[in-house]
Amino acid sequence: MTSLESFRDEVETFFDATLPAALDGVTGHLARAKAWRAALYEADLAALDYPTQYGGRDLGPDHRRVYAEVSRGRVPREDNTFGIGVGMALPTIRDHGSDDLRERFLRPGLRGDDVWCQMYSEPGAGSDLAGLATRADLDGDEWIVTGQKVWTSGAQQSQYAILLARTDFDAPKHRGVTMFVLPVEQEGVTVRPLVQMTGESEFNEVFLDEARIPRDWVVGDVNDGWRTAVALLAHERVQTGVGSMGGSANQRSKAGRVPIPVAQLIELARGSGGRENRIDDPEIRQELARLHTGAVIMGQLGKRGAHPSIGKLWRTIQGRAAADLAAKLAFPTGPAWLDDGSDRGVDDDYFAFHILNCRGMSLGGGTDEIQRNTLGERALGLPREPGPDRATPFKELPRN
Ligand SMILES: Cc1cc2nc3c(=O)[nH]c(=O)nc-3n(C[C@H](O)[C@H](O)[C@H](O)COP(=O)(O)OP(=O)(O)OC[C@H]3O[C@@H](n4cnc5c(N)ncnc54)[C@H](O)[C@@H]3O)c2cc1C
Repeated sequence: MTSLESFRDEVETFFDATLPAALDGVTGHLARAKAWRAALYEADLAALDYPTQYGGRDLGPDHRRVYAEVSRGRVPREDNTFGIGVGMALPTIRDHGSDDLRERFLRPGLRGDDVWCQMYSEPGAGSDLAGLATRADLDGDEWIVTGQKVWTSGAQQSQYAILLARTDFDAPKHRGVTMFVLPVEQEGVTVRPLVQMTGESEFNEVFLDEARIPRDWVVGDVNDGWRTAVALLAHERVQTGVGSMGGSANQRSKAGRVPIPVAQLIELARGSGGRENRIDDPEIRQELARLHTGAVIMGQLGKRGAHPSIGKLWRTIQGRAAADLAAKLAFPTGPAWLDDGSDRGVDDDYFAFHILNCRGMSLGGGTDEIQRNTLGERALGLPREPGPDRATPFKELPRN
């Protein structure tokens, strides 16, 4: 196995030389995202903990820690294109998919050939995800899928979706669900972007009208999708919690929902952009100190491998507090920006974006209340939320 020292050299060479050369002259978010991922794959760094047979390196936590240290703040922001694929769908297929699905999807996904999205939420099933009503019926060699999904991030550029659909309406709601891989680019799938208050369209409504899925593209077993759905959610909570804290203090990226780094708030408090200098204001200093402590705790939580819901919850609290302070310091122009479609990534529009966008942190990947319920039930061992629906057939449950 590669020693930790030579592995460190290898990762440093990649970020110092290989990656800048691979991105040289490449423009546009998707093209840069794909060039980054392809370079990482070619350098054999795309999947440190995957088996070698699927394009991984079979390395343990020490090597992963070295990679995390060296790559901190150097991963191109365009990597967010692969948050759902590389971060959630592929590890779920690796751990629960058939050999055929692993063979078909892992290498291309890791190389960045395919973009993935997650079709979980529906108009009537968000926090109560097990209430989903999209149906999949087996017809010969294909599943036929009909229903509606919503808030599907990145569906407009995805080739594949991890889809949850109901395959048994007679079973109780947690037991009649199956996880599928859905090819997005087909006639039965209509993707309609939704405009968010930031002006962007990160997520979509998706209408499924007799969409087709090959019979064997089931992740795990038929009617056992709740187990695999929860496994994917654990990856999502790592990804959207402590895993999202690797940004550098200098990076001013509008991508993703990473809390504004404290160094940037200090810069703002010092009066950058011609604002009033408030760095000596005791109230502001106290808030900056609190946020700095929060960022240090996030880092420690990441290292200690805390329950994913703790990381997710902590990040949303930190993200909102950081954005609230930015709003206070930037007032009165904070939430206003030039609507010229540019992505300058700096100054007013950067802070305005975060002030508006941070609210979504508390929802995507499960709301704050749901994280608290999860912690109560799974980490603290408190009794489950009351509800008659765990044994009742889904078709008999009242629905709106
Ligand atoms: C930026 C963003 C990206 C997203 N991307 C995706 C995606 O790619 N794929 C996808 O499938 N979904 C995605 N979602 C959807 C997200 O998972 C849901 O919005 C979330 O699970 C909440 O569901 P809901 O919106 O239906 O709200 P509801 O479930 O209707 O909740 C409304 C309110 O009630 C509270 N509440 C509900 N149930 C309980 C309870 N049992 N106890 C206490 N409080 C409760 C909630 O906390 C919330 O405050 C995304 C959402 C956002 C904001």
